[in-house]
Amino acid sequence: MSETNQGHKYPIIERWGDALNSALLGIHITYFIIFMAMGIKIMMFFNIFSMAIYAIAYMFYAQKPLLAISATFIEVLIHYMIAVQCVGWGAGFQNYCFANVVICFYVGYAFNKDGIAGFHAIPVSIVSSACFFICWLEARFHEPIYFVRPRDIELLRLMNDTFILVILISFSYVFTNRILTERRKLTRNAKYDELTHLPNRHYVDSIRKRRNLNDPDRSPEYAIAIIDIDNFKTVNDTYGHDIGDDVLAELGALLLQYKNDNTVTARWGGEEFLVICFGDSPKDRLIDICEEIRKTVEAKTMYFDGFSLKFTISVGAASKDANEVFEDTFKKADQNLYEAKGTGKNKVVYK
Ligand code: GH3
Ligand code: MG
Ligand code: MG
Repeated sequence: MSETNQGHKYPIIERWGDALNSALLGIHITYFIIFMAMGIKIMMFFNIFSMAIYAIAYMFYAQKPLLAISATFIEVLIHYMIAVQCVGWGAGFQNYCFANVVICFYVGYAFNKDGIAGFHAIPVSIVSSACFFICWLEARFHEPIYFVRPRDIELLRLMNDTFILVILISFSYVFTNRILTERRKLTRNAKYDELTHLPNRHYVDSIRKRRNLNDPDRSPEYAIAIIDIDNFKTVNDTYGHDIGDDVLAELGALLLQYKNDNTVTARWGGEEFLVICFGDSPKDRLIDICEEIRKTVEAKTMYFDGFSLKFTISVGAASKDANEVFEDTFKKADQNLYEAKGTGKNKVVYK
């Protein structure tokens, strides 16, 4: 994980908390001015209280984000309940309930990666909805405290609906993007090895399916090589696991250079890698590639703080014969690797 993410418990709140707070502060400054102009004193004073809440909330987003978000929800809820009493149902303040209901699920997601439990989205949305109906009952049986001209009611309605739409669109945009990015990352991690950035075994499995390598009648010609680092355990034991990882990453970077439409390079697991060549004369190309990789590795010196190291690889290669499935060809390559290891290492064996 990158360093920038480490201190951030809730990265999405960290990134957008202040923006949301500023938007809400802006909305309440607007309401304050409008209510003052319309002489709706209760709402004017309530908006002073709201502005104070959002001004203070800035200080909490970093340390106590849940407290800041909870205060926001409560403020919005009380604001729409009082506003309906003051100016009636027609101004549409109760519609902020919809924003609260939708957003508490998004916020639940932001606070708890495992689900919505972190913010108790269900109870919060039920309470918000109940307040919506209480507003309706209140409006149904009581006249608004203030008389507001129909033209102004219409203006308030338009403003409220616009703010709500903007809030909902912004939240949906931010969160769906976030979810899609995370999904992309998960899909990638499932098929690629984090250390070497090479495709992993799952990716090779998908290639096997996609190219029909398990069906001898439909399988294309191909050749496969298993690459295994020589005496890798000694590298780990002598220099430590981290240096071993650097060696793996170095070989991974080299193999990545050979990847193209007709050549698959992958980390099969541990210190074993695969090269699969498709297309024209796969066997000759595979042997050339493996010999080139072997020589490059042999010639390379890796430099570290106070020491340097060299390593070699052994390669077992085989090509698909008639009626063979992937497993059969793989086994032949593995036997050839075994022979390479048993006859001095640092060589490519193809039979
Ligand atoms: P040989 O020449 O016969 O291949 O000997 P070897 O020591 O390379 O083979 P062996 O299979 O005995 O050792 C493989 C080692 O690879 C053992 C394991 O700890 C190490 N290894 C496997 N995966 C990783 C990894 O991700 N990072 C590091 N640093 N080591 C790993
Ligand atoms: Mg091995
Ligand atoms: Mg080895």
